[in-house]
Amino acid sequence: MNPLAYLLVSLQFTSLMLVAVFLIAYFNFGRRKYVLLWAMAFAVATVQWLLNVGSNIFFTSYEGYWLSVSLMSIVPTTLALAGHRLRVGLRNPAGWYAASAAVTGLATAWFTLADVHVGLRTGIVPLYTALMMSVLTATVLHNPRRAQPAEWGLAVVALCFALCEFAAAGAALMGGAAGTPAAQSLYQSINFLGLPAIYTGLGLFTVLIIASDMAKEMRELALSDSLTGVRNLRGFQAAASEMLINARRRCEPLSIIICDLDHFKGVNDQLGHAAGDEVLRQFAERLRQLLRPADVLARIGGEEFAILAANTSPTEAARLAERLREALPTTPVTVKAASLEITASFGVATLRSDDADAESLLARADAALYQSKYEGRNRVTVSA
Ligand code: GH3
Ligand code: MG
Ligand code: MG
Repeated sequence: MNPLAYLLVSLQFTSLMLVAVFLIAYFNFGRRKYVLLWAMAFAVATVQWLLNVGSNIFFTSYEGYWLSVSLMSIVPTTLALAGHRLRVGLRNPAGWYAASAAVTGLATAWFTLADVHVGLRTGIVPLYTALMMSVLTATVLHNPRRAQPAEWGLAVVALCFALCEFAAAGAALMGGAAGTPAAQSLYQSINFLGLPAIYTGLGLFTVLIIASDMAKEMRELALSDSLTGVRNLRGFQAAASEMLINARRRCEPLSIIICDLDHFKGVNDQLGHAAGDEVLRQFAERLRQLLRPADVLARIGGEEFAILAANTSPTEAARLAERLREALPTTPVTVKAASLEITASFGVATLRSDDADAESLLARADAALYQSKYEGRNRVTVSA
């Protein structure tokens, strides 16, 4: 077997292994459609390398072989790009893909069968690959300031792939219509030096992206309340300590509003626990609608919610709490065909220089809330 054949077999095993890796990732990590697209991309690449290895067995003419593997290598890069666009929530322009693949395929067929041009029949598909990989790089880094390390890794590998294929196309075109042994040799050297590392890199970094997406989801899940979808106590504490540091650094006021539903036990007693849950869900949604985008809402106890309001003075926080208190009963909550006018009591506190941490701020808001309850509920108390 010649050294080239060894390389082809090794590439085939690498892509076959990556098919298995992506299928495992698909079935174990939430069955994301884009992971399946990546598995399909490497599956087509595997078949394509197989056809390369066994070209003598599978094909009777060189033209048949060349056209088959060329047309087939359009597919994996397109599927890889489609998967990455799907992952970041970008639309996949199917018509555009079909048109550019058709132009690439037809041009390659033309220069293989009709007007034979060795440089062009060899160089057009690498140019297509370079284009796809450049778009893939831009897709992965669509938000560069928030890109994860795994995304940077993949972007670098995809860009190397694009440059490699661009150089390979250049080498092929250098041979002109008749092609030269030197051009052919350069074309092969560029491809076979680059491809094994690029395949491995693309596979590894893509798997790492799947893993970091999962980790991010788990982190968000751990910080959010399963009943209402707002932050839970841990999410509140994380946001509070971050906002406290920011407020101190920027010398801005930071306020906390806590509210507790009035006589909520009565709702549970009259309508049942499930109805009580529904009230909590609707209550959280109402609060969310009434708040500003920058405010952080959390459910920190059974029927107790907290709002972190950045850059908000005591007067502004009291006004916000009063606005919430007045707005809540105006739209009754409906559960089990019953219409309930839910009221809540509020406690407001603003960060002081002697507050050691967010806990002491929360404790003062809690004391103010207790005061609201004590004075008859459905009212706002601002911590002195
Ligand atoms: P107050 O006006 O003094 O706040 O009266 P309250 O009845 O709202 O307060 P209390 O603290 O006595 O009761 C709170 C109730 O909230 C008791 C508990 O059963 C209920 N509760 C706590 N968590 C949940 C929950 O997740 N779902 C439901 N349905 N009820 C909950
Ligand atoms: Mg209550
Ligand atoms: Mg309570």
